[in-house]
Amino acid sequence: MRGHTPSVVPTDDGDERAELRTLVRQIVAREATPERIRALDEAEDFDYDLYRALGEAGLIGLEADTEGTERADPRSQVVVLEELGAGPTSMAVCLVVQYMGVHLLASHGSEAQRKQILGPLLEGRTRVAFAMTEPDGGTDVARVMRTKAAQRDDRSWVINGVKTWISGAATADHAIVVARTAPPEPSAVDGITLFLVPLEARGVEVHELPTMAIHGLDTCEVLLQDVTVDPGSVLGEVGRGFRQVLATLNGERLNAAAAALGIARGAYEAGLDYARERQAFGRPVGAFQTLQHRMVDDAVQIEAARELVRKAARADALGERADLLSAMAKLAASEAATRAVDNGMRVMAGAGLSREYAMQRYFRDARLYTFAPLTDDMIRNYLGERLLGLPRSY
Ligand SMILES: Cc1cc2nc3c(=O)[nH]c(=O)nc-3n(C[C@H](O)[C@H](O)[C@H](O)COP(=O)(O)OP(=O)(O)OC[C@H]3O[C@@H](n4cnc5c(N)ncnc54)[C@H](O)[C@@H]3O)c2cc1C
Repeated sequence: MRGHTPSVVPTDDGDERAELRTLVRQIVAREATPERIRALDEAEDFDYDLYRALGEAGLIGLEADTEGTERADPRSQVVVLEELGAGPTSMAVCLVVQYMGVHLLASHGSEAQRKQILGPLLEGRTRVAFAMTEPDGGTDVARVMRTKAAQRDDRSWVINGVKTWISGAATADHAIVVARTAPPEPSAVDGITLFLVPLEARGVEVHELPTMAIHGLDTCEVLLQDVTVDPGSVLGEVGRGFRQVLATLNGERLNAAAAALGIARGAYEAGLDYARERQAFGRPVGAFQTLQHRMVDDAVQIEAARELVRKAARADALGERADLLSAMAKLAASEAATRAVDNGMRVMAGAGLSREYAMQRYFRDARLYTFAPLTDDMIRNYLGERLLGLPRSY
């Protein structure tokens, strides 16, 4: 990310977003230097200072308010996430989760939940984790969900189950836990409820999982054993939790696309800087045609992915249909990232494996958005049905 090589084509976000982009870049330049990003990646530590700075600058809440009347503008969210993805990538992953939390709390939170959790969340004074995936599978989680919550006579709920691959559960204050509260009728997505569970509650155990990537944010297994919460912990409507989550999926896919786009751009820029500087046989390696072709292809894919991200964000912001565009944006951005990190490694050859350069981190981190929040194959399944209008293949 050295020097922020400008993107191939100037970004056209309008004045307001250009200011926002500049603000994020300034915060990243001040708080998350390449040396610090590398040190935190090596130490596998969360950047509390950067999170606090983002919160103080209003970048967690953006346009959202505590009353739940104003939602954050997706056009702003994607700008913040692209900029973070290009540098302190793990923070982009963290914000994808926080933005989802903001959306769920603003749309479905009770007055008390909005006051107690949404308010501090908007200001970056607290964090939430989103606990949906289970050991039996993340792709079709509603069908295989084993985490259950039962209501007792005193109306409190008792939750039991295991959640896995949960981002930030070791460092967050609350988890939004997705649990089955009634049989899957009339369909698998029915009978599921969301609970706001304090991660310090009795019966909650959080274990960090050793992972290859996203080292600046913990990835955890969350065990819930007879965890008792009061009725006020239900987020939204009992039995309709999965439908509430489904309504946020466009936003989550779009935000994942923006973070992946940032990774693609970060790797592309780092590769380009290296290609200009590294001398081999008396000239920069960037003079070699094969490398130029690869980087040109990256530039084209990145700009194409950004246009899809922007188009989807605009449609979403204007209340137009955004599901197909968000899914296409996620696919385009995850492919752009996978390709840019691969090409970046080729440009850098031996140096690509050096931990002194960011390329190996981009190479590792890019994997996340090939399968999260939904695998690219499942996105293709979805588009096959909804975009092509062909019979459902899954
Ligand atoms: C670092 C990290 C952070 C994460 N953060 C969170 C988080 O904060 N919260 C959370 O809830 N989850 C989180 N996840 C989980 C993530 O969302 C899941 O990994 C993802 O949904 C895929 O689920 P799975 O890994 O269980 O894959 P599986 O469901 O086991 O799928 C395995 C393979 O089978 C394919 N497949 C499955 N069904 C079909 C089908 N019908 N048609 C075609 N192909 C199919 C998939 O495409 C995939 O290739 C995280 C994961 C990681 C690694």
